[in-house]
Amino acid sequence: MRVAFFSTKKYDRESFEKWLPNYPHQISFFEAKLDQRSAILAQDHEAICAFVNDQLDKAPLEVLASQGIKLIALRCAGYNQVDLEAAKKLNLKIVRVPAYSPEAVAEHAFALILTLSRKTHKAYNRVRESNFSLEGLTGCNIHGKTIGVIGTGAIGRAFCRIAKGFGCRILAYDIFENPEMKSLGVEYCSLHELFSESSIISLHCPLTPETHHIINKKSLRRIQDGCMLINTSRGGLIETKSVISALKKGKIGFLGIDVYEQEEDLFFQNLSEQILQDEQIARLMTFPNVLITGHQAFLTREALDQIAETTLENISAFEENKELLNEVKL
Ligand code: NAD
Repeated sequence: MRVAFFSTKKYDRESFEKWLPNYPHQISFFEAKLDQRSAILAQDHEAICAFVNDQLDKAPLEVLASQGIKLIALRCAGYNQVDLEAAKKLNLKIVRVPAYSPEAVAEHAFALILTLSRKTHKAYNRVRESNFSLEGLTGCNIHGKTIGVIGTGAIGRAFCRIAKGFGCRILAYDIFENPEMKSLGVEYCSLHELFSESSIISLHCPLTPETHHIINKKSLRRIQDGCMLINTSRGGLIETKSVISALKKGKIGFLGIDVYEQEEDLFFQNLSEQILQDEQIARLMTFPNVLITGHQAFLTREALDQIAETTLENISAFEENKELLNEVKL
C-alpha cells in the first residue's frame, strides 16, 4: 500500500526503514503534522500513518476520505485524538499499536520519580560546575512508600511490577481489576482511598470523557500534603490550572509530567529560539520541584522497533483483507 506518513522524525524514519524491506508497502515521509490543511499531502496514497498530536477530528478526516484514504494506521497506543464517530461515517478504518514495550513508559515514569525524589537533575548541573555541596539535595526513599496507580493496563501493570521491586505498597484504581496484579499484592481500592492514602500517584489510564481532568480541584483536596504526582499518560488527565495552584500551596510536593494538556503546539519541536507563549507551561517550568519531559516515555529502541513492525503488520492485514486485530472501534 502507499502510505502517507505524518509528523515524521528522524527516529521514526530510521525504525520504519529498518523494517520496510520485509513489506511491500511504499511510504512517503512528511514532516508536517496532520491537520485539515496538510491532509492534502495524502493524495495518491491509500493509507496514512499518524502519531499522538496529529489532528484526526472530523475536518481532516473528511479531507483524507475525499482523497481515497481507507486506513488510518496510528503508530501509538492512545486514540483520544481520533473522532471515531466521524471515521465510522466516512468508512475509514483505524488501527493502532496497542502495546509496544509498556516497560518503556513504566520505566520512564520511574525515571521521573527517582529524579524528583533524589534531585539528580540538580546534582548533575551542580557537579558540572564543580559545586560538590549537598545542601538542598536531601531526598526521600521510595522503599516503603504507598504508590497509587490509576489504570492497571499494560503500562500500569509494568509500573506495578517495578514498584513491587522497590518494596512499595501499591494501591490501584481501574474499572477492571486485574487478577495478576492482585496476586502480586496490588490492592484495588476506590479513587477516594487512593487519593488520600498515596504518597506517590502515577496515572496510566487512557484519556476518555470519564478520565478527563481526573486530577482536578476537588481530587487535589483529597491528596496527602506533599504528594508526588506523575503523568506519563495524557495531558488532559490533569487540570493544569488546579495543579499549579496546588504546587503553589505545597499540596503537591513534586510533579513529574511527560505529557501536557496543551502539548500539541509545543512538543516534538525545537522552539528554543522562540518566545514561549504558553503561560501555564512557563509557570510550571519555574517550580524547582517540577520535572517536564516532552512526551518521550515511549522513546526506546525496543519500543520504536515494535511500533514499526506492528504498524506495518496492521497495514498488511488491511491490504490482505485479514482480520484487523488492532482495530479501534467506536
Ligand atoms: P491499556 O489499554 O493497556 O490500559 C489502560 C487501562 O486503563 C485499562 O486497564 C483500563 O481498564 C483502564 N481504564 C480505562 N478507563 C478507566 C477509568 N475511567 N478509570 C480507571 N482506569 C481506566 O493502555 P496502556 O498501554 O497501559 O496505556 C495507557 C495510556 O498510556 C495510553 O492510553 C496512552 O494515553 C498512554 N501512553 C503514553 C505514552 C508516552 O510516551 N508518554 C506511550 C504509550 C501510551
